[in-house]
Amino acid sequence: MSDAIHPEPNKTAEATPPPPTDAERAELRRHGILLTSMEELYTWGNSNSVWPLNFGLACCAIEMIAASMAKFDIARFGSEVFRPSPRQADLLIVSGTVTKKMAPQIIRLWNQMPEPKYCIAMGACAISGGPFKQGFNVLKGIDRYLPVDIYIPGCPPRPEALLHGLVQLQKKIKGFKLTGPEAPRHLREDIKCDFPVPEFGEHDLEPPNNPEVWRVPTINPSDKG
Ligand code: SF4
Repeated sequence: MSDAIHPEPNKTAEATPPPPTDAERAELRRHGILLTSMEELYTWGNSNSVWPLNFGLACCAIEMIAASMAKFDIARFGSEVFRPSPRQADLLIVSGTVTKKMAPQIIRLWNQMPEPKYCIAMGACAISGGPFKQGFNVLKGIDRYLPVDIYIPGCPPRPEALLHGLVQLQKKIKGFKLTGPEAPRHLREDIKCDFPVPEFGEHDLEPPNNPEVWRVPTINPSDKG
């Protein structure tokens, strides 16, 4: 019986060629041959068409608007299509102070966005409450309720910082796998995709955070300088 028809298992393993290196693929591209995979195609398309929701909260939103104008031109990164409807948006840029009155509306908007979707916390207010952290009416970080992908510090961060954050988000998306532990949230069954909308309790929002996405930060005494 011929080996070509019924090859031995160890011979088959030896015959499997290794995937091409980046250098080999670059060389092939020079000759007009494009090698890719479904995964690369998916993450490439996804990362280069991140459409933000047309939505802002406070002064940081002015910087976000500036990023979309001619001088900074967010269109260079494929994100100029600010969508007025959450159903057509991929990216929620939380740009400004999140009051407790506004927080349920933000989470409702997030829930109305289809997966895959991403969240950028832009500025000190969205990250931690910023200069208004001590205010009884201010949420001390949108990450208490939503899974933030990228944090952009500053008060306010400049448009270039938002563009840098967007590029970091694109790199993150390009690193996603379609299966396994590196797959994004919407492709995994062990991660919940529903985000409960908090309600006004007697003294504060109820619940005060979503334990699925936020843990109380702890300080390791050995880290103290
Ligand atoms: S971080 Fe500063 S600039 Fe941004 S919304 Fe808060 S106060 Fe305004």
